[in-house]
Amino acid sequence: MSTPASLIATDIDYERTGFQTGTLRLPWSHDRSAYGHIPVPLAVLNAGDGPTVLLTGGNHGDEYEGPVALMKLMQRMPTLAIQGRLIVIPALNFPAFLNGSRTSPIDGGNLNRLFPGARHGKPTEMIAHYIETALLPRADVVIDLHAGGASFEHAPTLLASPPPASDAAQRARYLDLVRAFGAPNTMIMDLLGEDRTFAAAAERHGTLFMCGEFGGHAGCDAANLAIVESGLQRVLQRLGVLRDEVHAQAPTTRYFRVEGPQHYVYAPHAGVFEPAFSLDDDVRAGQLAGRLFDPHEPWRAPREIAFRGDGRVMCARTFARVEAGDCIALVAAESSLD
Ligand SMILES: [Zn+2]
Repeated sequence: MSTPASLIATDIDYERTGFQTGTLRLPWSHDRSAYGHIPVPLAVLNAGDGPTVLLTGGNHGDEYEGPVALMKLMQRMPTLAIQGRLIVIPALNFPAFLNGSRTSPIDGGNLNRLFPGARHGKPTEMIAHYIETALLPRADVVIDLHAGGASFEHAPTLLASPPPASDAAQRARYLDLVRAFGAPNTMIMDLLGEDRTFAAAAERHGTLFMCGEFGGHAGCDAANLAIVESGLQRVLQRLGVLRDEVHAQAPTTRYFRVEGPQHYVYAPHAGVFEPAFSLDDDVRAGQLAGRLFDPHEPWRAPREIAFRGDGRVMCARTFARVEAGDCIALVAAESSLD
């Protein structure tokens, strides 16, 4: 028996040639709107033979460089000369995006922790299920654009998946696209076993997948936006999807790897954190990361927190106020992709 299709419908015909804009109709029956739905905007440009590239942002609703780059790309799409198919969704978790929050205000859903989603689930689970069942099967390459959100500032970094070792051709193709993106940093994350992400879903489907972190503070940084836009342009050229455009040389990227729990710095208790580092600092295990003050006993010496691994600080918490278990910093060791 085949799996029932997603309950999310769309007025877009993915097979039709040409440029279309429309919405994903996410059914949402609630007190204010019994037969209502949430319209999630998307655009598709289809010009025959070639790869299908899915470009997404707003997986988390408080990350803006990706969505802004994709909204700008949408302005150009009607006149772009392409070979293949471009599917562009600037804000996947649209309710979260409208709310300017990481998670959905409707159901508290963190889309990037809900794959493979659920057909009969809450709205955010239904979005994950649609991506899993309707979008990933159509896509050859996916680029999902993130940033640090309100709670992090992230050095502009392409997040690469560990390249598949079993398929040499696919692996070479993937590394070629990573180099074409040409972000200042390229990093492989150890997500400590997390397998509910878009990246994990793409891996299950055998789809080439890149994501990236390009800023933070819930803002849109002009320099990071330029990195995203030029990186997308080069990847689309490299894939042969974008034609008739001057091919720019990709800047060289530095490779990093988050190797394990030793690269995460967490707050051991609530308080106010005074950092002893800056983003992009090179640090050593045992080096002071910062001091944690107890606001209820401010006369007491603060607790000193040390880094537990060597590397570069790629991501730093923006809020000085912390609770036990909050991530304060993420470090990555300079590495290679091999
Ligand atoms: Zn994100």
